[in-house]
Amino acid sequence: MKLEDIKTPAYVCEEAKLKSNLNILSHVAKESGAKVLCALKGFAFSPGMPLVSKMLNGATCSGLIEAKYAKEHGFREIHTYSPAFSDDDIDEVLSISHHVVFNSFAQWRRFATKAKNSKASIGLRVNPNVSASPTDMYNPCGKYSRLGITKTNFEFSELDGIDGLHFHALCEESAQSLEIVLKAFEEQFGQIIPRMKWINFGGGHHITKAGYDIELLINLIKNFSQKYGVQVYIEPGEAVGWECGFLIASVLDIVDNEQKTCIIDASAECHMPDTILMPYRPKIRGERVDGKFCYRFGGATCLAGDIVGAEAGEPIYSFDKPIDIGDRVIFEDQIHYTIVKNTTFNGVKLPSLAMMDESGNVAIWREFGYDDYAKRN
Ligand SMILES: *Cc1c(COP(=O)(O)O)cnc(C)c1O
Repeated sequence: MKLEDIKTPAYVCEEAKLKSNLNILSHVAKESGAKVLCALKGFAFSPGMPLVSKMLNGATCSGLIEAKYAKEHGFREIHTYSPAFSDDDIDEVLSISHHVVFNSFAQWRRFATKAKNSKASIGLRVNPNVSASPTDMYNPCGKYSRLGITKTNFEFSELDGIDGLHFHALCEESAQSLEIVLKAFEEQFGQIIPRMKWINFGGGHHITKAGYDIELLINLIKNFSQKYGVQVYIEPGEAVGWECGFLIASVLDIVDNEQKTCIIDASAECHMPDTILMPYRPKIRGERVDGKFCYRFGGATCLAGDIVGAEAGEPIYSFDKPIDIGDRVIFEDQIHYTIVKNTTFNGVKLPSLAMMDESGNVAIWREFGYDDYAKRN
């Protein structure tokens, strides 16, 4: 099918771009010796999973459900970390996962017997108290953070059965930021690193973004694993799905209350949630810096603030040509942290999932409707 022929709204992943991200990530793995895991939290797009599971070393999961998904999609290594595991989930988590990371000594003690009787390699998440992140909402080491054990709370004498340490302190960050975090991690936990089999550097590495210093990342990993004799893991999510597709929507109506607003069949709140939470302004294909025709774009929901880019303070998009009802609008870079966070608020239809091959043919993978709403409510 051609892009013009698909029904909107739809997320369209561009296979060539996904492959190019995966090539960069597997280059990092090969050159540095690290194992690279896909963080399913940010990117769990089913039609892309055969490629991802083939080209990366495994998946990192936030709990039982993502771990089951990783297993179903044939990932070679399954790593599971949760801020807290429940008694109901832990047995299956331990049986599915190759690595399980606990967030506190209380969780580790609670499940230690089960963990020691499983085949899983066990780690603890630490909080190095040094981080880099564009916003507090995405800062895992902010004040009172519940994520990871700080040095003050760390029981250095209770490490029997612990194979690894995990930290996650970055969000959309550079290799230079990793270097700073790594230094703090070494200063605080260096004494026990040589006793570990593996160290997981978490996610938030913006490796596939233009300008990322891949050589520095490779050197940091190589030096670290040589110095301590450990296997290093990294687990990017955003970098896997970065700029590898878009959300296509149709203009249903245009209202004019001192400013023209296109009402579209997609929603910032339901389908582009980080535009509100981060917040940021997504690019629209074809927009101009000083176009004569200016519009805002709002979802067909009752939420007043469901306006694309409004939270970032830049809701006006301008174009060389006027927009008409029925036109299609493409929001760029909407494959990561979107599908995994979708809601059916207001009963709005979930966008279809589609894959576009290298010659521009689009295959619809899944469409949604009433049942998806009814089943969750
Ligand atoms: C969110 C998260 C990741 C992935 O982060 P990205 O910013 O998508 O690379 C990896 N590990 C943990 C523990 C996370 O919470």
